[in-house]
Amino acid sequence: MKLKAAVLRKSGLPRPYAESRPLAIETIEIPPPAEGEAIVAIKAASLCHSDLSVVNGDRAWPMPIVPGHEAAGIVEEVGSGVHSVKPGDHVALIFLTQCGECEHCIEGRPSLCARGTQANREGRLLTGGPRLRLGDMAVHHHMGLSAFAEYALVSEKSLVKIPEDLPFVEASLFGCAVMCGAGTALYSAGIRPGQSVAVFGLGGVGLAAVLGAVTAGAGRIIAIDPSEAKLALARSIGATECVNADSVRPAEAIRELTRGGVDHAIDASSSVEGFSQAFEATRRGGSTVTTSLTPPSQTFSFPVARIVAEARTIKGSYIGTCVPGRDIPAFIQLYRQGRMPVDKLVTRSLKLDQINEAFDALSEAKVVRQVVVF
Ligand SMILES: [Zn+2]
Ligand SMILES: [Zn+2]
Repeated sequence: MKLKAAVLRKSGLPRPYAESRPLAIETIEIPPPAEGEAIVAIKAASLCHSDLSVVNGDRAWPMPIVPGHEAAGIVEEVGSGVHSVKPGDHVALIFLTQCGECEHCIEGRPSLCARGTQANREGRLLTGGPRLRLGDMAVHHHMGLSAFAEYALVSEKSLVKIPEDLPFVEASLFGCAVMCGAGTALYSAGIRPGQSVAVFGLGGVGLAAVLGAVTAGAGRIIAIDPSEAKLALARSIGATECVNADSVRPAEAIRELTRGGVDHAIDASSSVEGFSQAFEATRRGGSTVTTSLTPPSQTFSFPVARIVAEARTIKGSYIGTCVPGRDIPAFIQLYRQGRMPVDKLVTRSLKLDQINEAFDALSEAKVVRQVVVF
């Protein structure tokens, strides 16, 4: 099958991307689905900071590659042995396949799936590949999905069925932003009713963490970001207090507001400085949880004695510790009841050929979620 896709041949081109145009809309080819695979007609795919790290080179991926890992669509065709979905099913795509067989999957922690992680690092599918072709050249898969394209060839284990009446733009957010953010608040941090929470960085993941904190029944939810517009958005979805990271030292302001710090500080800032502020805003005995995928060379140091004497927990959260087959339907139910308004995270919709301009807007932190619609 031939289809249009946004192909990245080289990362790290200079900004503005509207001029350097790192992503080219090209006609690529995919084979029919092999055993265990499906082709999905992509209906909506949103831009996430992790896609930006592919484009700007903060994280290394095999090239060329088609990015895009937060999407929803309709199953077009399935290969042999596929039983979990059939043509016509509406699906959310998930960026780490759950093989169901490795030690992590068996112990109920599919967000750590070893085989899915290995396939993602190598830019192929769980079932092999790379299977995307541009002329004679093999093109790699991003996170087993490569969703900035009219169609995606994926493992059936990358799909979760969703209700047919759920709009695709909203549906696209559940696979990354919602699981990573709300899951971090609910499962990785494990917020209990009445506890205090600070969320650093109000991109899609940070705002979804605010929604998760509301769902968990947090008493105080303090949102931190340099953008007044994003702080206002956080307040509209349940943040109880806001701190502008540009006008004060956020950790000091939060320690003052809470007389010593919050029970849980969630860092979704994508920066080491944000993590460091989150750590200092956490009270003694509290937990600092980060979802930030900063460049691998960047490090953070602290006196180990403080971890002990202050009984602190520092935790990393990947995919919000979620089990996608359990949590995507649960979060969709909360959305439909109006209790998790993820639609507020959508800044705008756009066409695939506007994608370079959209990465400029994301780099400038002007937007929350921009969704490419097909
Ligand atoms: Zn993402
Ligand atoms: Zn696994």
